[in-house]
Amino acid sequence: MKVGILGGGQLARMLAIAGYPHGLTFTAFDPAKGVCAGDVCPVVEADYGDDAALKHFGEQVDVVTFEFENVAIESAQALEQTVPLYPSTKALAATQDRLVEKSLFRDLGIKTPGFQAIDTRDDVQAAIDALGLPLVIKTRRFGYDGKGQFVLRTTEQIDELWNELGGQALIAEAFVPFDREVSIIAVRSQQGDVRFYPLTQNEHRSGILHLSRPLVNGDSRTAQAQEFISTLLNKLDYVGTIALELFQVGDELLANEFAPRVHNSGHWTIEGAETSQFENHVRAVAGIPLGDTRAIEHSAMINIIGDFPDRQAIQAIDGAHFHDYGKAPRAGRKIGHVTVTAPDAVTLDQRIAAVTGVMFPA
Ligand code: AMP
Repeated sequence: MKVGILGGGQLARMLAIAGYPHGLTFTAFDPAKGVCAGDVCPVVEADYGDDAALKHFGEQVDVVTFEFENVAIESAQALEQTVPLYPSTKALAATQDRLVEKSLFRDLGIKTPGFQAIDTRDDVQAAIDALGLPLVIKTRRFGYDGKGQFVLRTTEQIDELWNELGGQALIAEAFVPFDREVSIIAVRSQQGDVRFYPLTQNEHRSGILHLSRPLVNGDSRTAQAQEFISTLLNKLDYVGTIALELFQVGDELLANEFAPRVHNSGHWTIEGAETSQFENHVRAVAGIPLGDTRAIEHSAMINIIGDFPDRQAIQAIDGAHFHDYGKAPRAGRKIGHVTVTAPDAVTLDQRIAAVTGVMFPA
């Protein structure tokens, strides 16, 4: 079976690598030259808005999926007429606009921070009146890794906020004094079979994911996270891997956003779970029965951002698994990750310390 992937970055690359053992073949579609999925599969180089190129792409493959969610809905809908698209445009549409996404959470009973749309400068004061300060102001569309965000702590900062983000459709969210950030990843098959990965704790640095660690011994919040993500999966009649990012405040979880695709906080599953998020995604979209999502060891994933560390020093650490995406180093760019596995939590801590010691020398 031939699988088409919209986007040719590291997620497409890891999807293809996971799918080849199942006899699947892959072609990616990306407007950029020399994308890193090109090391492992052919890439059609065309614009996402080029409907003729998309249609032709759809005719060359048996099923299409995507590695990033900002494909124009109209183009994705046109493609959906030619070839099965998983997950469907229903999921894509719900995640492209933070206001639509948060409204969906609220309508489905998935707890989320208080929020309000901001279209004009006066709406900022209305949001302060309704939600209080601080507020996190975000662009409704095309934000990622903390880009397009402003934390408004005082009314004196409104000018600065407006200079930075004014003129775009915005959303104000109540600032959540979270204890920690977690995510849950799940996968749903075409028949509606659902599997969950363990809840994963995430740490960010400068708005970019730094470290993810699955809570392999279980966590009391797991049932709530599973309920939230199941509600989403069933509402969207979803097929494939999905990720839901959550804030934990005390015992409560609040949904921040979801990604209709494989997710950075699930990269540990390549070595840390029986079946990786990538393999389960391609299984779902290709109609192959889902694999076991059980964690097989203690593990953690650390992103490589900007530049490569001394890779030999990391490769020499027991349980460290190096992933080079084949991308050119550039400030703030995700160019690889290291998964650390261990038979127990204490050994994992020691190995994480060894890896981060190489990556971030004092
Ligand atoms: P996002 O792009 O929505 O994933 O936000 C990026 C990061 O900003 C999150 O991982 C949080 O660390 C922080 N953040 C986002 N929204 C809020 C909020 N409402 N309250 C507190 N922190 C937030």
